[in-house]
Amino acid sequence: METVVLKAEPQNNEAFKQATEVLRTGGLVAFPTETVYGLGGDALREDASQKIYAAKGRPSDNPLIVHIADTDSVYKLAEEVPCHAVKLMEAFWPGPLTIVFKKNAIVPATTTGGLDTVAIRMPSHPAALKLIKDSGVFIAAPSANLSGRPSPTTSEHVVQDMNGRIDMILDGGPVGIGIESTIVDVTGDRPTILRPGFISAKMIKDILGDVAIDPAIVDMESGMRPKAPGMKYTHYAPKGELTIVEGSRDKVAEEIQRLVCQKNKDGYKTAVLADTDNVALYSCDNVFDAGSKKNDITVAAGLYALLRSCDDIGAEYIFSESFEEGDMGYAIMNRLIKAAGHRIISVD
Ligand code: AMP
Ligand code: MG
Repeated sequence: METVVLKAEPQNNEAFKQATEVLRTGGLVAFPTETVYGLGGDALREDASQKIYAAKGRPSDNPLIVHIADTDSVYKLAEEVPCHAVKLMEAFWPGPLTIVFKKNAIVPATTTGGLDTVAIRMPSHPAALKLIKDSGVFIAAPSANLSGRPSPTTSEHVVQDMNGRIDMILDGGPVGIGIESTIVDVTGDRPTILRPGFISAKMIKDILGDVAIDPAIVDMESGMRPKAPGMKYTHYAPKGELTIVEGSRDKVAEEIQRLVCQKNKDGYKTAVLADTDNVALYSCDNVFDAGSKKNDITVAAGLYALLRSCDDIGAEYIFSESFEEGDMGYAIMNRLIKAAGHRIISVD
């Protein structure tokens, strides 16, 4: 299959016309959102959902998020809309928050990975909103990467993973946030965060007064089953083996430098992911500036591109500092720890 790439500028009506046609006929279109690029298909068509799983190589029990452009759509897709959800919708939509509802019968089980709940989000990216509105389709869209790979934050990343596997890519340039939406489940007694993201627990607490965090993601080593099925899979991984080294600044740099020297001596290619303020502490090849913890929005925005850059240079071993601090530190580390397959060295 030939994958057509078209610019997603709002005035490029031809691009949206073609994308609409693809969606209405059960095909797949990758498109920009404010979090990462999504791989979209008609959420109400089983065949379209099946194509999404096939294109990504995604396990069929890992449900898709349904993207909408107005709040009325929630009432068509969800069986119940609790008042917690209404408050969250008013506070954070359009934006990087996904809400899990009891699903209505019109949503096929393929879209929800067999669950009786459906995850819904109203993105704020103008191209995403225009595509949903123009097509009149509820768009099921997981991240537009091959399963297990870092999520795409540019259309070039989507081309790397999806060229020849999908009908079309709408190129809207680099995305703003860079990590996936926060997911909140409102189907139980207590609203619960299933995946951390740009909308933090504190921001949600300010609106609802209370929110729980799925214990399986608080302690990722616990072996508990996460409530968001996708959170159990190794994810976001670069091709090289990634290890996180945590502790005080100087000790971390010393240990990473030692590990790099050892691997280089054995003939392996390495890369280092360091805070802007620490880059100068290293004297080895391929030290990538991951942004500053003091401005963690930049770390989040660049994280997946950086992991892909490690692949581009053929790094076999990657050593990263920890980026725990800051409002987004929790969401960033959730992704980085998974990318590292939980390989963490503590030096304090
Ligand atoms: P992605 O769009 O690639 O970021 O993946 C969607 C994430 O949302 C995965 O982790 C899914 O497991 C999660 N998800 C989607 N639908 C549901 C649902 N109904 N209940 C819980 N988690 C969900
Ligand atoms: Mg994903």
